[in-house]
Amino acid sequence: MLEDDKSIPVRVALRCRPLVAKEINEGCQTCLTFVPGEPQVVVGTEKAFTYDFVFDPTTEQEEVFNSAVSPLLYGLFKGYHATVLAYGQTGSGKTFSMGGTYTSAQENEPTVGVIPRVVRMIFQEREKHTDCEVSLTVSYLEIYNEEILDLLCPSASKDKPSTINIREDPKEGIKIVGLTERQVMSAHEMVGCLELGNSARTVGSTAMNAASSRSHAIFTITLEQSDNVVSKLHLVDLAGSERQKKTKAEGDRLKEGISINRGLLSLGNVISALGDESKKGTGFVPYRDSKLTRLLQDSLGGNSHTLMIACISPADSNIEETINTLRYADRARKIKNKPVVNVDPRAAEMKHLKQQVQELQVMLLHARGGIFGGITMIFTCAILFLLPHPQTDQANEKLQTLTFLIATLLRKCLLTAAADKDSPEAFTTQHALRQAQMSKELIELNNVLALKEEFVRKMCQNDSHLEPMQTEHQNNIKSLQTSVGSLQKEKEDLIQALQSAKKDVNQAKLSEQRRKRLQELEAQITDMKKKLQEQSKLLKVKESSVRSVAKLNHEIQAMKTQRVQLMRQMKEDSEKFRVWKNKKDKEVLQLKEKDRKRQFQMVKLESDFQKQANVLRRKTEEAAAANKRLKDALQKRSEVAEKRKDIHYRGMEGAAGRVKTWLLNEVEVLVSTGEARRHLQDLLEDRKILAEEISQLKQQMEAGERPAAKVRVSGVLLIHVYVCICIDKHSHVMSYGFPPRSAQIADLQQKVLDADNEGRLKQRWDNITTMVEAKCALKVLMSELVSAKTTSSKLESELKQEKSNVLDLQKTLCDERKLMSTMDMEHQHRLVELEQMHQEKVLYLLGQLQSEESKSVEKEQEEETSKRERELLQRLKFQVCHTVLSTTVHNNILAECSSGSYS
Ligand code: ADP
Ligand code: MG
Repeated sequence: MLEDDKSIPVRVALRCRPLVAKEINEGCQTCLTFVPGEPQVVVGTEKAFTYDFVFDPTTEQEEVFNSAVSPLLYGLFKGYHATVLAYGQTGSGKTFSMGGTYTSAQENEPTVGVIPRVVRMIFQEREKHTDCEVSLTVSYLEIYNEEILDLLCPSASKDKPSTINIREDPKEGIKIVGLTERQVMSAHEMVGCLELGNSARTVGSTAMNAASSRSHAIFTITLEQSDNVVSKLHLVDLAGSERQKKTKAEGDRLKEGISINRGLLSLGNVISALGDESKKGTGFVPYRDSKLTRLLQDSLGGNSHTLMIACISPADSNIEETINTLRYADRARKIKNKPVVNVDPRAAEMKHLKQQVQELQVMLLHARGGIFGGITMIFTCAILFLLPHPQTDQANEKLQTLTFLIATLLRKCLLTAAADKDSPEAFTTQHALRQAQMSKELIELNNVLALKEEFVRKMCQNDSHLEPMQTEHQNNIKSLQTSVGSLQKEKEDLIQALQSAKKDVNQAKLSEQRRKRLQELEAQITDMKKKLQEQSKLLKVKESSVRSVAKLNHEIQAMKTQRVQLMRQMKEDSEKFRVWKNKKDKEVLQLKEKDRKRQFQMVKLESDFQKQANVLRRKTEEAAAANKRLKDALQKRSEVAEKRKDIHYRGMEGAAGRVKTWLLNEVEVLVSTGEARRHLQDLLEDRKILAEEISQLKQQMEAGERPAAKVRVSGVLLIHVYVCICIDKHSHVMSYGFPPRSAQIADLQQKVLDADNEGRLKQRWDNITTMVEAKCALKVLMSELVSAKTTSSKLESELKQEKSNVLDLQKTLCDERKLMSTMDMEHQHRLVELEQMHQEKVLYLLGQLQSEESKSVEKEQEEETSKRERELLQRLKFQVCHTVLSTTVHNNILAECSSGSYS
């Protein structure tokens, strides 16, 4: 029945899952290369492993099943036991591959794992086997802490201690007493059992992954054919194969750790024993070492087809565990590596790096604009403050470019501010212009007023001169009029006399006389009338002059009112300006305060940056040193190994020397491996942080946030870039990439890999063959131990000393800080005082100004008002000058004080 009595090799399928989101976020890189067309995987740059199947991250579940699992099922129906073991570290995809989280909702999904597919196929196969009856039973158990839990009857095994026992029946083989074995009629029913058990596995522990990483789950399908052929298929989801940390494992966890190790270890030994052709038939197979191996005993024997699905993560952060898995799987199925044409991973990496360098340079440019261009930021703030409607997009864009663009912005800002009516500068200018305009108006008004008043005065003066003349004129007129009247009378009399005389010729002579007299009189009358006209003309002139004086006086009054109004307006305007200025001054003070804080932050940021940069530089140097040390140790080891082969060397050196050299070198290798591992861990952690920051930055960039915000998060990134640039500058070596530090990580990992070569551990003690050698080794180790302990205690006391020094320094620092804060308080106090003094001065000046103004209004009535006002204006101007001056001085003092406190 069995086609091969000698050996049935354990077949190994290597399955690498894709990088998961967490690994991508942490900046992990793929450290594996898959050789196309070959079942081969290359770790790092040179270490290659070959298996029966190698499934790269793109492989679907269906392919895994069809190519690796389904052949086992044909054997099952032929009567072979079959086993599928999923092996690998926690999170490598064991449960995913086996289908250990299957629910019926996923029935037709391509992500369905091995077990549901097996179930489907078994029932399909059974349909084909119409010739005989096939009955199927399933059981599902979990081994946790070397205890068996029944997953198909979880309540029974949950509270009570396990009643399940393993018995070995000479006829039936291994029997598990007390385990639920459920007979199933359909695929649906069988899958139901799987689901039930899966949920029990979840329910049975608080944190699924925590428990599943420590327990083995075995889903067993027993196929009983009518011809008494019973074959079993074990589908095993093993516990996480990661090394249990030697430290901090206590109590239950330690127990767990040990039991898992025991299960996996003995499984490994069993697999080795079964797989080792040379030991076949003679070697002892240690099934009884653990429950796991005992349970799998009858399917791991000669008549079982066994497939190990070795699950691995491609992430470089998991490289050590991945290599452990690869070795474990390799032991299970040793196949000679075939040399293949490799896709050169270095060239690909180089291309990737170059691209990332470019990205980093762009980022650096942006970041520089933030950290080193702090002033830029302040300017930008100023610009944004000055412009009520900044052209945000444009400003943003410009901010992100170089410094010369910032100058452009500044220039632009100044221009815009000047054109903008709402800016404080413009407001001040306008106020000054307004005041100047009003002052000018006032002066002009005063001039006109003075002229008019002068004119009125002159007119009044003339009037007073005219007054007596007027009376005289009036008198003259009167007398003239009287004279005219009497003359007229005389004339009429004469005319009458003349008429009567005509009749009397004798009176001719008299008549002649009378006529003459008449003529005289008429001339006199005309003369008189002329004079009279002149006089009345004069009087009219006088009247009009009085009228115009009255008009002028009226005008003067109006102008005076206007002047009072103007002065009041000036006063109001000044007051308004004063209030506005006070407000603005306060705002400016606040801004200055903000600016001061920002500057302080910047200084702090820079010093943090320097500190971190130093730490990173140190780390980088240390990592390089560890790398070198390991390299040297390895070099020496191989030299010693070479020498040892030399018989002359053996003869020349005594056992003591030989053992010593070998031991010390071995210790050095181990120590430097440890160191390298530590630095590796550090680098991985660094990269994680950097990757997180970068992704944060990217998100922010996509969200279109301001670069200022970017600066905040990019501290470490910047430092990384800085360090890289430094390295680049000094060594001209491109030792950085993206995600950062990956190259360094890969390098260190390669070294650790070399040092940790398989077989070293086993060979290590093969060097000691005789008691003498053992004694020598002990002696060497003893002296090493003593010197190490001495050094350690010396270091410890030094450390203690340093710690107390640090404490002292901290105390001093604390004192200094206190002193500084008192000084700062004093400084603030002084600042407030200065401010108060300044305010008082301004108030006093304003008060004076006002009283002078009111006084001047009162003195309007006085004659020399205009002169006085001119004086007052002079004084006003002087005082304004003084105020401006004192404000400037005050501001200067403020500026000096604030810069002084942080310089
Ligand atoms: P394990 O059982 O080994 O601890 P899991 O099977 O739980 O690991 O897998 C860890 C994570 O990786 C899960 O989120 C799983 O979905 C995912 N995963 C594992 N293998 C693959 C794969 N081949 N393709 C896609 N995702 C996978
Ligand atoms: Mg799992």
